[in-house]
Amino acid sequence: PSMAQNGRVTTDFKQSNQAHNSNAFARREEIRQQRESLPIASVKERLIEEVKKHDVLIIVGETGSGKTTQIPQFLFSAGFCREGKSVGITQPRRVAAVTVAKRVAEECGVELGQKVGYSIRFDDRTSGVTRIKYMTDGLLLREALLDPYLSRYSVVIVDEAHERTVHTDVLLGLLKNVQKARLKSQDRKFPPLKLIIMSASLDARVFSEYFGGARAVHIQGRQHPVDILYTLYPEKDYVDAALVTIFQIHLEERHGDILVFLTGQEEIEAVERLVQERLRQLPESNRKLVTVPIFSSLPSEQQMRVFMPAPDGHRKVVLATNIAETSVTIPGIKFVIDPGFVKARSYDPAKGMESLIIIPTSKAQALQRSGRAGREGPGKCFRLYPESEFEKLEDSTKPEIKRCNLANVILQLKALGVDDIFGFDFIEKPSRAAIVKSLEHLFLLGALTDDCKLSDPVGHQMARLPLDPIYSKALILASQFNCLEEMLITVAMLSVDSVFYAPREKLDESRTAAKCFASPDGDHITLINVYRAAEDLLEKRKWVPHTERNEKIFKAKSEKIFKRWCKENFINGRSVRHARDIHSQIRGHVEQMGLRITSCGDDMLQFRRCLAASFFINAALKQPEGNYRAFGTGQVVQIHPSSVLFQSKVECVVFNEMVQTTNKYIRNVTRIEYMWLTELAPHYYTMQS
Ligand code: ADP
Ligand code: MG
Repeated sequence: PSMAQNGRVTTDFKQSNQAHNSNAFARREEIRQQRESLPIASVKERLIEEVKKHDVLIIVGETGSGKTTQIPQFLFSAGFCREGKSVGITQPRRVAAVTVAKRVAEECGVELGQKVGYSIRFDDRTSGVTRIKYMTDGLLLREALLDPYLSRYSVVIVDEAHERTVHTDVLLGLLKNVQKARLKSQDRKFPPLKLIIMSASLDARVFSEYFGGARAVHIQGRQHPVDILYTLYPEKDYVDAALVTIFQIHLEERHGDILVFLTGQEEIEAVERLVQERLRQLPESNRKLVTVPIFSSLPSEQQMRVFMPAPDGHRKVVLATNIAETSVTIPGIKFVIDPGFVKARSYDPAKGMESLIIIPTSKAQALQRSGRAGREGPGKCFRLYPESEFEKLEDSTKPEIKRCNLANVILQLKALGVDDIFGFDFIEKPSRAAIVKSLEHLFLLGALTDDCKLSDPVGHQMARLPLDPIYSKALILASQFNCLEEMLITVAMLSVDSVFYAPREKLDESRTAAKCFASPDGDHITLINVYRAAEDLLEKRKWVPHTERNEKIFKAKSEKIFKRWCKENFINGRSVRHARDIHSQIRGHVEQMGLRITSCGDDMLQFRRCLAASFFINAALKQPEGNYRAFGTGQVVQIHPSSVLFQSKVECVVFNEMVQTTNKYIRNVTRIEYMWLTELAPHYYTMQS
């Protein structure tokens, strides 16, 4: 079945034009009714008045009340986009920016990228006529680098401010400055900037205080009762518990879709496979269950699937990351399964090490999640932990700025001309230790001079690239090491979620398959091998003359071959495609910067030397007892089982990521020579010893 325009799943029958027109009409009517029934519709005029009256306005409203989709349209119709100005809306999550923009474009009856568009890192769907622009908070920060007055905007809406991502926090400080600067400026080009901060949490006080007692308004939602169910005992394996619960609901409860909160792509894809497998064991009549994943690196054309109803008589199971907590509202959900975990960044300033860890949610998050079951009628939420555990949860999540590496934001603030990081007016100040450590990190990467100014050209070049500073530096170095081709692929592949997957039940098979790409030198070269093999399949077109028809046939054929190849080799096609997208974008950036793009060919020694020069901060040396010790932090680590160097005997490695489960593991590991470190990063390795 394919998804047809009217939002229902149909088979591929051609529709007559007439049917199409009446469908389109019905769809418009449906959307109009949906919009009118949103809680926010009744306060439209009042909201517009408030925005006119106040330069800073805080809007608090329950999730699903219509804030994100409706308010920008209200402002547009009230004339805030006159004289070519735009309304900009920031989201902490890429998926939200994309799906909401698509929805609003449809509501307005326009093509995406015209009046309504979105812009996220590596994907821009806006044009000169875009007036309502959804984007990530990080992207607006980048725009400020090129346009310090954010002059194209009449209104900036910082949405989902309660999430308190590091970008949102920094953005708030920046917007405060932009507002002041615009007021001071006599130039008519810069009328005052309106600022709206939207949040799902009831506590508007922090934002209001930060903006000098700014006005806050509350929008009443409509919430139906939700039954909360707990497990009697703690669950050892929450993925398995979630699976059992999905089928329990499916077989015992009446109609209604299910929303399951998982921690990331890998977990979601594993559950997807497990559900399929168990379905096959059920009698035919019980198999009417479809799964739909949603996570941030899902290709944007697939993201919209979660909003479509399941085929007639089927139940939909949405497998989501935290995205579905407040950022996107999926209609039809009656059951929520909440294992109670979330993937979060964590930073240890003493060691300068950031890692992704899976931690329990906060109480506020648990409440938001259960609330998702009661939007359209009474619902049920299954918390996969005992009630006594709930009481032990933190009240709310700690702002990200308190638990992440700040190198990236400091680099950007410096590029924006904010030299005194300690003096910057943060809504919540990061610890002094974290700032110092991050400055040190940037200094080690050569982005800062001795007196803590952005270095020329390296620091400025690094700030221009939309990447983690260590990756930006790697690209700059690679152009000197004549292996920028290889590094571009590496950085693209490191920017996506795992490319290999290893289903539990086919562990051996998948390991054998992965071996044909494995390089004895390590994971970086292995990733390049996978990328190039995929590229060959998707692009090798020697055998077809270039005509439009051939092109189509070729594309369909190569897609098919690619899909089969992915399946046979246990490769995640989605991740590879995403990496190809990212690759072409970063390539554009480095071309613009005038970096020399050459390949080192078969000279992988040269490439490994470049990896050593780039990632010297993350190097580790084998210890007599078999573990590794990270140089910078002194931590004892092990090579992750997913690495091609797992259980190998190499002496010295560089790595990109540390994950902490029961042990500390390093991932994306490559073999290097210890001597290279003292040669290529003497400033660090003489200092350390
Ligand atoms: P809020 O920002 O207050 O949480 P939203 O504006 O995101 O609320 O959502 C308002 C309504 O629009 C919800 O009922 C939601 O289900 C619906 N909606 C949002 N995006 C889509 C979409 N892509 N497809 C269908 N419905 C959508
Ligand atoms: Mg919203």
